[in-house]
Amino acid sequence: MTGAEANRRFPGYRLPDDHRVLLQPDGGFVLSERAIVAHVTMAQALGADIRARETVLDWSPIAGGGVRVRTTRGSYEAGRLVLAPGAWIGDLVPALKPIAVPERQVLGWFQPGDPAKFAPDAFPVLNLMVEEGRYYLLPIWGVPGLKIGLYHHLGETGAADAISRDVTREDEAVLRRCIGRYFPQADGPTMALHACMFTNTPDEHFIIDTLPGNADVVVASPCSGHGYKFASVVGDIVADLATTGTSRFDLSMFRMDRF
Ligand SMILES: Cc1cc2nc3c(=O)[nH]c(=O)nc-3n(C[C@H](O)[C@H](O)[C@H](O)COP(=O)(O)OP(=O)(O)OC[C@H]3O[C@@H](n4cnc5c(N)ncnc54)[C@H](O)[C@@H]3O)c2cc1C
Repeated sequence: MTGAEANRRFPGYRLPDDHRVLLQPDGGFVLSERAIVAHVTMAQALGADIRARETVLDWSPIAGGGVRVRTTRGSYEAGRLVLAPGAWIGDLVPALKPIAVPERQVLGWFQPGDPAKFAPDAFPVLNLMVEEGRYYLLPIWGVPGLKIGLYHHLGETGAADAISRDVTREDEAVLRRCIGRYFPQADGPTMALHACMFTNTPDEHFIIDTLPGNADVVVASPCSGHGYKFASVVGDIVADLATTGTSRFDLSMFRMDRF
């Protein structure tokens, strides 16, 4: 449909009339925090031993096979190890430092004058390519504000622990630039601003592989800003790699050695 048609159908939008719009009527969003709790609960029911708030300090191969892991609470030995530490992957797998690069992202929530126009039934999740950049927006849910982020935000990359979690006026301005022009009815007071991290590979595809030179270690970096929705299938693949060394899926596009 055109932008004009989308604006009529979804009154919170004010897209240029000739903007090309693709609507996926069954599109939506996953409540990630609740989904994580569901995954953990199911894993526990299947016998998983969950240890949260325990930092892995380092790991090393054991002569003859297997892996030793040292954490802030102790030391473990196992036949296989899965490493999936998100933006910290380069700390545990140094070969990935130049390949899986953390990038600062900022999310904003802005209060609309008429929240009903930005409720889930009135405002579809949106991926918007405009001259200001590529933005993503989500309807009001949980936090009473329209949620927005800009892919690659200010282009700030670095080591995960060095990336600033503080939010500045400039961060807010790049988000408001989009809200003010394309969703002006949501250009109200700021409700929340948060900084977090993407972990991008050069081709923006995931890394899911056994570690070259050590088949006992599985590495999963399913991010580049779009990994959460694939959590269930990535978990399936990683479990297969850890238990059988193979997957029923073709993983060539996720191999470490493609770079
Ligand atoms: C702003 C933003 C918006 C996003 N939007 C979307 C979206 O719309 N759709 C989508 O599909 N995806 C989205 N993503 C991407 C999604 O969040 C990631 O793909 C996903 O979280 C990757 O999961 P993960 O388990 O690999 O890493 P994480 O979710 O980062 O989990 C890694 C965990 O490992 C822990 N850890 C790190 N180092 C250690 C250590 N040494 N010892 C112990 N624990 C450690 C971390 O604390 C963290 O809890 C978004 C990401 C961001 C930042």
